[in-house]
Amino acid sequence: MKFYSTLNRRCIVSARQAVIKGIADDGGLFMPVEIPAIPKSIMQDLPALSFLEISFQIAQHFFGDELSSENLNTIVTDALNFPVPLVSLDNGIHILELFHGPTLAFKDFGARFMARLLSCYTQNDDRETTVLVATSGDTGSAVANGFYNQPGIRVILLYPSGMVSEIQEKQLTTYSGNVQALEVEGTFDDCQRLVKSAFLDTELKASKKLSSANSINIARLIPQSFYYFHAFGQVKSPIESVFYSVPSGNLGNLTAGILASKMGLPVAGFIASLNVNKTFLRYLESGNYKPGGAIATLSNAMDVGDPSNFERISALYDNDSTKMNKEIYAASFNDDQTREAIGEIYGKYNYIMDPHGAVGYLGLIDFIAKKNVKDYQGIVFETAHPAKFSEAVNEELNFKVDVPDRLKECLTREKKSIRMSTKFNDFKEFLLRN
Ligand SMILES: *Cc1c(COP(=O)(O)O)cnc(C)c1O
Repeated sequence: MKFYSTLNRRCIVSARQAVIKGIADDGGLFMPVEIPAIPKSIMQDLPALSFLEISFQIAQHFFGDELSSENLNTIVTDALNFPVPLVSLDNGIHILELFHGPTLAFKDFGARFMARLLSCYTQNDDRETTVLVATSGDTGSAVANGFYNQPGIRVILLYPSGMVSEIQEKQLTTYSGNVQALEVEGTFDDCQRLVKSAFLDTELKASKKLSSANSINIARLIPQSFYYFHAFGQVKSPIESVFYSVPSGNLGNLTAGILASKMGLPVAGFIASLNVNKTFLRYLESGNYKPGGAIATLSNAMDVGDPSNFERISALYDNDSTKMNKEIYAASFNDDQTREAIGEIYGKYNYIMDPHGAVGYLGLIDFIAKKNVKDYQGIVFETAHPAKFSEAVNEELNFKVDVPDRLKECLTREKKSIRMSTKFNDFKEFLLRN
């Protein structure tokens, strides 16, 4: 499979290059030149296939020409080694639980898959690859876990000191070995600037093999399409009208769904469920893309004013908002509505939802009512475990949600981080010395 840059369709690279580079030389994002059609035989077998079998079949279409099926199968099996259950609340409302990975959020799918793929692609290189990641929270923990102990790879995480939650900080700083956390005395923007400067520095580039694992890497996006197929196979009947409600921020999860539908998955419609950060909704209404500043909300992993994957969605619909509107419905909800939904879902179904999933639920309910949809099957993505955002959930439900063992265990480990100033020279020296 070859990949093109969203800024120039004639700039084409192999899967290996796309994954190692992360971003095209012209600054565009990589997209598959041809979206593979998943064979009818697999589509008919979906209910009988395991999540790993489905994942391997689809991964082969994207990465199979450069990797042996044995290697690719190992990558899929190691990376996605946790359950992905579809829980039915009632006849037409289902929850796809995407939080059973080690860091309790759906970012584990992409980060773990990318880590193993990158390690495999670089295994014969004589020099170690240094992966730099600036993080404001969730991404960093998934990346730290995903890359931990991957041969030939060293990971440097930069996070803003005092600006991530306690749980997040523990998830970032309690790895040792090949994962090093730098606690930057500045903001997330400072962290990002340090990483960007490193990629532009000729001396660093000459002595280190640098790579990045941020969310725009195509290797993080593709595995997110696997669970759309899996969820579809788990819905009993009638398969014609399945809607997916996706709590969205950078629009990566939604882009993966659109890819899945272009691969042949029958999708009746997508619901882009947003908090008050609604740049994408404004675009669908007006046809004009105007990014805004990020507004802080309860569903903070979706606090994005300028979603990076918009460029990809736009490319998939030939930059045409009318085409997009035929397949994607968007809706936006504030924190009060989110809190109320957490209470409602618990009251009605005895199900504990985190704030991100609650926004997804609201999106589905709103869509069904506004469009007067009958005979539907709605799948809401629950993107994080409620214990990860327990403050809001505990307050709304008036009790404490259970904390899973894998999170409890992480909270007891010792924080190990190196403090770093915001001066590029300090950071550069650190990289050269280590
Ligand atoms: C990152 C994240 C989102 C947003 O997903 P995008 O792919 O950026 O749209 C939603 N929920 C949780 C819990 C996340 O960590």
